[in-house]
Amino acid sequence: MNEKPQDFIHFFGTTGSKFTYFKKIRDVGGIYINVDGIHLIVDPGINTFYKYINTYKDDEVDGILLSHIHMDHSNDLNVFVELMTNGGQTKRGTLILPKQAIEEKILHPYAEKFPDQVYVIEPNTTYKIKDLEITTSIRLKHGVENYGFKVKTKKHNIGIVTDTEFFEELIDSYKNCNILIMNVPYYIKENDRPYAKHLDIPATEKFIQQIKPEEIVLTHFNGNMLNNNPELIAENLSKKYNIKVIAAKDDMILEL
Ligand SMILES: [Zn+2]
Repeated sequence: MNEKPQDFIHFFGTTGSKFTYFKKIRDVGGIYINVDGIHLIVDPGINTFYKYINTYKDDEVDGILLSHIHMDHSNDLNVFVELMTNGGQTKRGTLILPKQAIEEKILHPYAEKFPDQVYVIEPNTTYKIKDLEITTSIRLKHGVENYGFKVKTKKHNIGIVTDTEFFEELIDSYKNCNILIMNVPYYIKENDRPYAKHLDIPATEKFIQQIKPEEIVLTHFNGNMLNNNPELIAENLSKKYNIKVIAAKDDMILEL
């Protein structure tokens, strides 16, 4: 596809679970946000670059957002930095990433100087990529340094809730979002044991109740969610709360 719709989000992959990916059940992968003429790559995990370049065949990336260092989010980070900066020959674009990604050399040190701007994430802080405001969340609870994002476009306030266990203060970071993209690997707790480091559907319902978004996209599924029919779960939530809930599929394009 060379012709892009006006504003959209492309979900390259919809799992973060290596087991689901290794069994080729779903693809890993980040998302591509194309809004107000600005092009963002968020969490370029395994195969994000391959899918991007095969689909869009261009180097029009203005910014790269990395939530945390895990491979399903960061694997293709360096190649996107090279794409955005013409292999380091043109100083351009913005990279926003946690300090841990620099300390642990997830971003290759040689590529650190390639982007025009490199912002090391502070929580609850607003950064600008051209005219687009990106605000980071409170630090998430995921074992490694991790933050979510809010992307404020002319029409929408898009919240991206990446990998984290649920905690009440988390919701404050996403107030006023009309669209939420949520990483929800789990359906329900088995034997009432809370899953460490990740969200489930009961946590998603707390977001719906307190934020009242117009639309939620569920993604980043593991086997627990996939075995319980994510489309049906989304449909039931839609009916229960009278909002639009979508279970993402690999290569889904959400028009905004
Ligand atoms: Zn993770």
